[in-house]
Amino acid sequence: MLNLVIFGAPGSGKGTQADQLAVRYNLRHLSTGEIFRKEIAQGTPLGLEAMSHIDIGELVPDELTVKLVAEQIRLFKKGGGVILDGFPRNIVQAESLAKLLASENLKLHAALFLEVPEEELIKRLLLRGQNSGRSDDNEEVIKKRLLTYNKQTAPLIEYYKKHELFIGIDGVGDINKIFGAICHEIDELPR
Ligand code: AMP
Repeated sequence: MLNLVIFGAPGSGKGTQADQLAVRYNLRHLSTGEIFRKEIAQGTPLGLEAMSHIDIGELVPDELTVKLVAEQIRLFKKGGGVILDGFPRNIVQAESLAKLLASENLKLHAALFLEVPEEELIKRLLLRGQNSGRSDDNEEVIKKRLLTYNKQTAPLIEYYKKHELFIGIDGVGDINKIFGAICHEIDELPR
């Protein structure tokens, strides 16, 4: 079993890489952002609550997000493993995840960090906004999402370094090359 976290700024390519990693390593791809977008599309109470935060570039409250992830992990804890994309997004969530995995007798093998400079992120997100239909891929919300990332998510770099789970990957360049670099790191992991 292999359990991974992939994190990075908005636009760093987490979703794209997580999709491919899930196929290569037979993992469940758990994207909290995708789950929220589905809930929003269905107009559920969770979706409405999530939308009020997503559309202003803030994080959805930890209580809701952690509960959702806990349910998902319990559902597929017997599979080949999981890649968590977009979770955790702050230290509180990282600590909740550690407790949750421990309580299910599961272990986190690595936290993969995609490193991309801010100018490149903005360029990618604006480009994506032309086709994605995502309400948060516009200039104003992108700025806020990057601020939120720097304040709340970037501290996870030190957190995972401290826990000896951190693997940094250069997230600029050809998508397949980046994928290759990540696979190389994963294949070296003790399991
Ligand atoms: P993403 O698809 O990962 O870019 O997420 C889109 C938006 O969903 C984020 O900007 C947040 O508002 C919200 N979101 C996704 N994951 C989380 C999380 N783990 N905690 C709080 N909010 C989240």
